Amino acid sequence: MTSAKIIDGSQIARDLSSRVAADVAAFTSSTGIVPGLATLLIGEDPASEVYVRNKRTAVVAAGMADLHHHLAADVSQSAIAALIAELAADGTVSGILLQLPLPSGFDSAALINLIPAQKDVDGLTTLSAGLLARGVPGLRPCTPTGVMTLIDSTGINLDGATAVVVGRSELVGGPMSRLLLERNATVTVAHSHTRDLESVTTRADVLVVAAGRPGLIGVNHIKQGAVVIDVGIHRTDHGLVGDVRFDEVRERAGWITPVPGGVGPMTIAVLMANTLAAARMQAGLPT
Ligand code: NAD
Repeated sequence: MTSAKIIDGSQIARDLSSRVAADVAAFTSSTGIVPGLATLLIGEDPASEVYVRNKRTAVVAAGMADLHHHLAADVSQSAIAALIAELAADGTVSGILLQLPLPSGFDSAALINLIPAQKDVDGLTTLSAGLLARGVPGLRPCTPTGVMTLIDSTGINLDGATAVVVGRSELVGGPMSRLLLERNATVTVAHSHTRDLESVTTRADVLVVAAGRPGLIGVNHIKQGAVVIDVGIHRTDHGLVGDVRFDEVRERAGWITPVPGGVGPMTIAVLMANTLAAARMQAGLPT
């Protein structure tokens, strides 16, 4: 039995990031506009601080403007809303990213929905979700978009392929299933109420796992030769692990993403691509 090929998300993300940096330079020299990403961090959550720091570093590396706002956890909902409205009207701001989760007590959905669709680089507003559901061009959520790039890197033809997505969240599983459907895959969405998960996942030519359950998927869930994408990330005493038991699944899958070094690096690279796309849209250029 041969072992699966590893999908090198770190390398694919580096390639995408260099393309974005080159495109940003070309865009800025032809329009005089420097795309800017406004990151909003509320409170002191250490994990969110790391995520935002990584995004800001990537913004600078891509040649874009790092427009960061850090507000204390005791700020009011209306003060955040006022800041988002200000950024929405500011021509130097191409994209607005509100780092989630917010500290308890805030209505995140209401705040997210204040971001105009053209600046919604996370693709999380109701309007952006509606555009995706209708197949109308718009900014798409970063992680599922990155997963599509990883799937495409294997060379698999998605048209007519059987795809199974485990998870149906607004952030990952939901948009993931729509992106796969847009490419004419036959898509099944499994979730926490699904009975006999193995019988569903073993049909998958492409299996995307975003359940947030460490080690949920083992070799018995896998069709021989399948493309397996592990979106899960869990910090354990033995380092980062995913939702897929990598060592056993790689013996049956055709392709597999590692954790770390699979989906994770793609998310930030796509965020940079989305910020440039937003700047292009606002300048009236095709994306
Ligand atoms: P979530 O908790 O919002 O959603 C999890 C989904 O999985 C739900 O729809 C639920 O029904 C389903 N689910 C839970 N247990 C299940 C089970 N036993 N069988 C089948 N389905 C089950 O999580 P999320 O925000 O979608 O994130 C999922 C995972 O992806 C998490 O580990 C998260 O940390 C990770 N994540 C990674 C990135 C990245 O950049 N790599 C980005 C976002 C999320």
